[in-house]
Amino acid sequence: QQREKTVDYQAVIKEAFELYKDDKSGKNADYIPFLAAVNPDMYGIVLATKDGKIYEIGETKYEFGIESIEKVFTLCMAMELFGDSVILEKIGADQTGQAFNSIPAIEMAGRKPANPMVNAGAMATTSLITGYYGKATMWEKIDAYFDKLAGRDLKVLDELYQSEAATNVHNQAIALLLKSYGYMYDDPLVACDVYTKQCSYGVNTRDLAVMAAVLANGGVNPLTKERLVKEKYVPKVLAIMGTTGLYETTGTWMFNVGLPSKSGVGGGIISVVPGKYAIAVFAPPLDKAGNSVKAQKAIGYIAEKLQANVYLGK
Ligand code: GLN
Repeated sequence: QQREKTVDYQAVIKEAFELYKDDKSGKNADYIPFLAAVNPDMYGIVLATKDGKIYEIGETKYEFGIESIEKVFTLCMAMELFGDSVILEKIGADQTGQAFNSIPAIEMAGRKPANPMVNAGAMATTSLITGYYGKATMWEKIDAYFDKLAGRDLKVLDELYQSEAATNVHNQAIALLLKSYGYMYDDPLVACDVYTKQCSYGVNTRDLAVMAAVLANGGVNPLTKERLVKEKYVPKVLAIMGTTGLYETTGTWMFNVGLPSKSGVGGGIISVVPGKYAIAVFAPPLDKAGNSVKAQKAIGYIAEKLQANVYLGK
């Protein structure tokens, strides 16, 4: 407690910002036309504490595609609706060791979605929600939940959604395959479309930090004080992030940094320091697995500086 109060978060995120701002490594996602065209030099860092303090530097107001980071919050919503054992039974919680859109991974997992952080598992999770609400209200319900997480009205970036919907035939194939294996809980193409729309939410770095801080704060939004995730589910969500959040390189990430995190091909990464704060970084160029290069470096630096590795137990 004492130590927390004396830490200058602003100074630490500024150091991380300066250290990597000229790093040109990595490459924007190019399989979604909209993402390929985003300015690769964009860079923002936000740290949001469990009591609602926000520290930020760089392009923190710019709105980009949330992409796979949405998977964390779809999981939260589904857990709230159905409970954790349904997630375990109908989706799974095991790392695939394969790319986020791998079809062999589904086969190797025993013809199952494997976990909610890969495309197969995320679409199956979305199908639980769409099946529960039905076509008439499903989007309204999802949208309301995401707005509460961010503490503001989030909008889908229509151009991104169109770009992605026009090129997501591979995800449609995954959804249909899962249907054939009995792991889709609504019309597979509806689930794929809603998943695509969720991936197309426009968020800024600050929104992501607030959303992640809900998990750092035991499930309560630190700004609005509204409970959005039951406290007992928070460690389950964090466990899934800690084992699968950065796709097939999550093990290396946890070895190096030790923070439950989630990346998206839009260039964002969120990391949660349970009971303390969350960090969000945005920088579009990605490594081969699809994780923002600069975001990984910046979070790695901040975590080291703040002794935030969860396994340190500090
Ligand atoms: N919408 C993207 C896809 O389904 C999200 C992938 C990601 O961020 N890893 O391919």
